[in-house]
Amino acid sequence: MIADLTSGPRVLLRRLREVLAGSGGPQILLDQVVGLIANNMVAEVCSIYLMREGAVLELYATEGLNSVAVHMTQLRVGEGLIGDIAAHARPLNLKDAQTHPLFAYRPETGEEAFHSLLGVPILRGGRVLGVVAVQNRILREYTDEEVEALQTVAMVLAEMVASGQFKETVVATSLPQRIEGRILAEGVAIGTAVLYEPRIEVVKAIAEDVAWERRRMAAAVEELQRSIDRMLSAPDVAVGGEPRDVLEVYKMLAYDRGWRDRLEAAVASGLTAEAAVKRVHEETRARMHEITDPYLRERLADLDDLANRLYLHLTGKQRTGPEGLPRDAVVVARNMGPAELLDFDRERLSAVLLEEGSASSHVAIVARALEIPVLGGCADVTDLADPGDRIIVDGDHGQVFIRPRQDVVRAFTQNLAARAQRQAKFAALRDKPAVTKDGVGVSLNINAGLLVDLHHLDDSGADGIGLYRTELHFMVRASMPKVTEQTDYYRRILDQAGERPVVFRTLDIGGDKLLPYQADHGNEENPAMGWRAIRIALDRPALLKAQLRALLRAAGGRQLHVMFPMVAEVAEFKAARAILDDEVARAARLGHELPLAIKVGTMLEVPALVWQLPALLPEVDFLSVGSNDLMQFFFAVDRNSPRVADRYDRLSPAVLSFLHSVVLQADQFGVPVSLCGEMAGQPLEAMALIGIGFRTISMRPAAMGPVKEMVCSLDVAALSAYMESLYGRQDHTLRDRLNEFAQDHQIVI
Ligand code: PEP
Ligand code: MG
Repeated sequence: MIADLTSGPRVLLRRLREVLAGSGGPQILLDQVVGLIANNMVAEVCSIYLMREGAVLELYATEGLNSVAVHMTQLRVGEGLIGDIAAHARPLNLKDAQTHPLFAYRPETGEEAFHSLLGVPILRGGRVLGVVAVQNRILREYTDEEVEALQTVAMVLAEMVASGQFKETVVATSLPQRIEGRILAEGVAIGTAVLYEPRIEVVKAIAEDVAWERRRMAAAVEELQRSIDRMLSAPDVAVGGEPRDVLEVYKMLAYDRGWRDRLEAAVASGLTAEAAVKRVHEETRARMHEITDPYLRERLADLDDLANRLYLHLTGKQRTGPEGLPRDAVVVARNMGPAELLDFDRERLSAVLLEEGSASSHVAIVARALEIPVLGGCADVTDLADPGDRIIVDGDHGQVFIRPRQDVVRAFTQNLAARAQRQAKFAALRDKPAVTKDGVGVSLNINAGLLVDLHHLDDSGADGIGLYRTELHFMVRASMPKVTEQTDYYRRILDQAGERPVVFRTLDIGGDKLLPYQADHGNEENPAMGWRAIRIALDRPALLKAQLRALLRAAGGRQLHVMFPMVAEVAEFKAARAILDDEVARAARLGHELPLAIKVGTMLEVPALVWQLPALLPEVDFLSVGSNDLMQFFFAVDRNSPRVADRYDRLSPAVLSFLHSVVLQADQFGVPVSLCGEMAGQPLEAMALIGIGFRTISMRPAAMGPVKEMVCSLDVAALSAYMESLYGRQDHTLRDRLNEFAQDHQIVI
């Protein structure tokens, strides 16, 4: 079976090698090559078009078309069928090319006599260097084997062209590209492309010695299998950031007969081992583009990854490590784990582009914390970008410019300069107290979740950390951190914060925040309303106990603030607090130094809790409104669904009067109340919150400057009086009214 399929290409490759080894200038070689291909593929025509400066494809050699057309016929990229193949870097297999809407007739070629056409791009490192096409008089569709054979030939041609023998062809420079991606972390950057995984680069496509290549391939496959076995037998549950089940899938694929058969068949056809890996890899990718089932796509992506690992074994190359990055690296990868991202030197990392990746992926969460623009879903970016290319990442609009034109660079450079200017203006506000024009002090805090966030405390002049999302530390690790590790971690946070308070929120896992090493979540239809946060903590108290133990130890001799997430009933708060009390008693028994004071509070994220405030408030030391979750449950609107995200407004009278009642009740009981959801970081929303009566808010660090500027320009008494008149209104939103108020009162929004 295999011999049948591959004997054709094998003969072709052998003859090609003979031709290429012969004498004669490049044009003579090319003329011989087209004759050879036409002959071998039983085609009346074979033509080679090569890319010239200005994105023009020029006919360089032909067998079967009029020879006067050589070096005369030119097509722009995107023009005609040949231009279309180049523009999309994919083959075209047409039974009747002349009826295709893109067919561009060139009389000098005499191609009107030929109906069927098969053309494939000549690709190297993701760049189109030209197109090779065969044509036949009769109406016929070319077989998959013929398409593959022509692709193999194109690989060899790519080698020839890349060696620079053909004057005036474009080898070293490439065209600008613009692609789109999903915004995972906002921001703009201009930098230099770095490929995280070395691309499968084929220096030599035709094997000198097929038996030797076969042995190389077998050895590399074996090494790959062994390396996966080794990873799986490591004592840890997960290794190198990759959970066990991913490795199990790799193992299954690496031992898969079909995959190895395909690789062996490619080597048997006369390719070098590297070229065979590339062949199989490209086939896989081509099939991936056709599959819509997400599960299967995922499996194919694993297979893709495996090919890459195999290539690394063959060549001894390594993935790009944190060392040796240029100063403005834009790291381009198919996918990346959060731990790998954290390994890079933040100072050198400008942006990250991923072919995969979703907004709730852990790498996105970490990237946001690091304030590095990241786009996911950037189709084929690992092929399109070459190491060293200039890249602009517009993380605000989800677009990427690869090898941008000078005017685009200029526009983005100006944009970056304007941003830097704004930042400098806000930095100047750092030491200015957040006090309104009528003398009301507002405590402005930041939200954090990783050690890398802590420098913002000093940079932004925040009063403290109003929300420390402890789960991020758990999520970016490959295994559950032990109590001692957690203790060290929390101690480092408290050390850096010094006198400034840090409100530690206990683990808010579950929902979309799954730990890679935790199994039993099951599949829930509505994970945001499922088994998460305090619900897991109370059902599996060992996790909460370990965390509280670590927090108590870390805070020995200092203040400790603990907050529980997603509390829906007073009883849940009491149960969690009882666990904390037990841990305090245990620490005292063991003679550990206890915190000087322990303040225990709850997030207010579930509307039901608002109707229990009279019972809750006497129990808590503070309250923090988590408006992100509260809004999704208040309006029954999924916070992660862009389709409904703007349907209701958090500045509606319903929301504002609801929050107003929370503040009034908390004030009655003398319980401090803050708000730490995203809305605290929007100047207009923050203004409304202060108008309602909030005196403490916590936000993304980047929001501190704009919010402080707003606070300092505000007259609270006037605003509160105005807002009193709004609570009872029927409007969809009060946004316009509040904006007008800000304008009329010179409040900087
Ligand atoms: C919230 O729900 O508002 C909140 C701050 O918590 P998180 O965004 O982590 O769910
Ligand atoms: Mg929340």
